[in-house]
Amino acid sequence: MSKNNIADNIESINAEIAKTAKEHERNADDVQLIAVSKKQPDERIQAAIDAGHRLFGENRVQEAQEHWNQRRDQYDDLELHLIGPLQTNKVKDALSLFDCIQTLDRPKLADKIKSEITKQPRDISFFIQVNTGEEAQKAGVLPADLDVFYDYCVRECGLKVRGLMCIPPVNEPAGLHFAFLKKLADGLGLTELSMGMSSDYEKAVAAGATHIRVGTGVFGIRPGYEA
Ligand SMILES: *Cc1c(COP(=O)(O)O)cnc(C)c1O
Repeated sequence: MSKNNIADNIESINAEIAKTAKEHERNADDVQLIAVSKKQPDERIQAAIDAGHRLFGENRVQEAQEHWNQRRDQYDDLELHLIGPLQTNKVKDALSLFDCIQTLDRPKLADKIKSEITKQPRDISFFIQVNTGEEAQKAGVLPADLDVFYDYCVRECGLKVRGLMCIPPVNEPAGLHFAFLKKLADGLGLTELSMGMSSDYEKAVAAGATHIRVGTGVFGIRPGYEA
């Protein structure tokens, strides 16, 4: 994947976002492309930055530190989102690197964040991850527990919850899960939705996504991985 390809990929995904948004009477500016840089070689990440992109997602705290700690000092307009599961023992590190944590999904994690976040001068926001497919192996709060958990995060812990995030089951139509997540967000009066990846982001934009998380579509296949 050459430098130019990555710039082209970003441009064509943004064009696709604009087209789909228009078709669904949405404003393209309300949809942000999160370039998921996990497992990507450093030169590809740099190519995306050189193309002017500033919003990135990572799914592991330690790998994110390797990719971004230095760049944080070099580029003051970076915005970093954690999109993978967060262990309580990594909360401190996560809060010192990320601007947004999209995987808030259990009271114990909210408690730990509450106790650590006061030490952070930066403004950090959150998405609640919802396990829309109720899959046993998947992270996220169950839809039935969402209202109580949302209240807990906001009222008890004082966390700035912006919206909801989901990763649909691989073998079910993603569009159904996107529509479901939108309905859950509407019920809570939340306006931001993180949903859609390389294979289905157009559907997510059609369903109301404000943040799409695209890895391979931006950077190419992750080296050593099939997809
Ligand atoms: C890796 C990852 C993505 C991006 O997946 P692609 O198929 O490469 O676009 C999106 N969301 C989450 C939570 C991920 O872990």
